[in-house]
Amino acid sequence: MTAETLDLALRAAELDATDPLAAHRDRFVPSPDVVAYLDGNSLGRPLIGTAERLDRFVREEWGGGLIRAWTGDGPATSTQPWMDWPGWVGDRIAAAALGARPGQTVVADSTTVLLYKLTRAAVDAQARDGRTEIVLDTDNFPTDRYVLEGIAAERGCVLRWIEPDPAEGVTPEQVAAVVGPGTGLVLFSHVAYRSGWLADAAAITRIVHDAGGLVLWDLCHSAGSVELSLDAWGVDLAVGCTYKYLNGGPGSPAFGYVRRDLQEVLRQPIQGWMGRRDPFLMGPGYTPAAGVRGVVSGTPPILAMVPLLSALDQLDEAGIATVRAKSVALTEFAVELVDAWLAPHGVEVASPRDPARRGGHVTIRRAGFHSVLDELWRRGVIPDFREPDGIRVGLAPLSTSFAEVHTGLAVLRDLLAQPS
Ligand SMILES: *Cc1c(COP(=O)(O)O)cnc(C)c1O
Repeated sequence: MTAETLDLALRAAELDATDPLAAHRDRFVPSPDVVAYLDGNSLGRPLIGTAERLDRFVREEWGGGLIRAWTGDGPATSTQPWMDWPGWVGDRIAAAALGARPGQTVVADSTTVLLYKLTRAAVDAQARDGRTEIVLDTDNFPTDRYVLEGIAAERGCVLRWIEPDPAEGVTPEQVAAVVGPGTGLVLFSHVAYRSGWLADAAAITRIVHDAGGLVLWDLCHSAGSVELSLDAWGVDLAVGCTYKYLNGGPGSPAFGYVRRDLQEVLRQPIQGWMGRRDPFLMGPGYTPAAGVRGVVSGTPPILAMVPLLSALDQLDEAGIATVRAKSVALTEFAVELVDAWLAPHGVEVASPRDPARRGGHVTIRRAGFHSVLDELWRRGVIPDFREPDGIRVGLAPLSTSFAEVHTGLAVLRDLLAQPS
């Protein structure tokens, strides 16, 4: 071992020893063949408490309560009436992760469907004022681009594309240059899925508002990882996943945020019975429920929200500020290891080097990385790959140790050092 290698191993150990969140790692279900899980930004690990909670839910709330649990009747259930879960769990996410007051967040649908519902509502409201342009960027996650391309075709809108630097992301200057009197809706990811760029949401929201537009932030790679202040930033709309940093499990439903004063103005297009006022009257015609409940369309995915409850307990206990501080420390350490070990093999950091502009993952690039990924997975090191040549090192602060980052990148270093 060289002195430098030894030094980095010692530093990983020291960072773990002083990590205030270290105890949380033991609360996750072990994955015996994994030596470094570097994809918590794509699918968070399950908590041991989630398995227990699901079991209890099936036996007591579902089995014990049956249909009565929808309205909170029957034997005492441990939680809220299921009817209230979209708003109840939404408020819990808002408090733990979004910097948002109650009554503005619901859990429903997939991110893609919720994105459609909220962007369509915003586009229609703005079109009434002759604002028919939608601003988006070429580097956004595919679903965001596809949904807006579909809505533009459906409603006759013009798409105004921003082309960000691939190793960075959308800047306030770029936004200021495209918004104007025609701007209806602006949609960006707060943390870019590819580069990890952390957009200046406060500044961009202000610029869009000054131009008369509405802004929707996609928070998939932000919620549970970086600090958010949706209310303070004056954000209009937001959506996000719960299966990434919020550990809700594969396909867990999304959350949507609608600022309180927009709730009576915007009408989402999927008018289902569960978003209607007095759903059990089953009456003629659709009148949306008051408040953010009107975002709900059909029967809420109660079972799929159960894991979130354990994850939110854990996030409440840890505190998002502490989570973000560890996230910055983890990505700083990863960048340091890449510079020391991988740069000599032609690997580049394709994420911002300024931690204030970086979310919870670090993307590294090198031609031919796709084939290296297969070998990493075989050795139990699990990052993911994003076209064209990026390996994403995703670092979920509650479940990832500094030693894991060290181990994972050491395996990659050794692979690159092999003569090919
Ligand atoms: C993960 C992700 C999605 C996922 O959408 P689903 O409907 O849950 O598949 C959407 N947008 C962004 C930016 C993402 O990172």
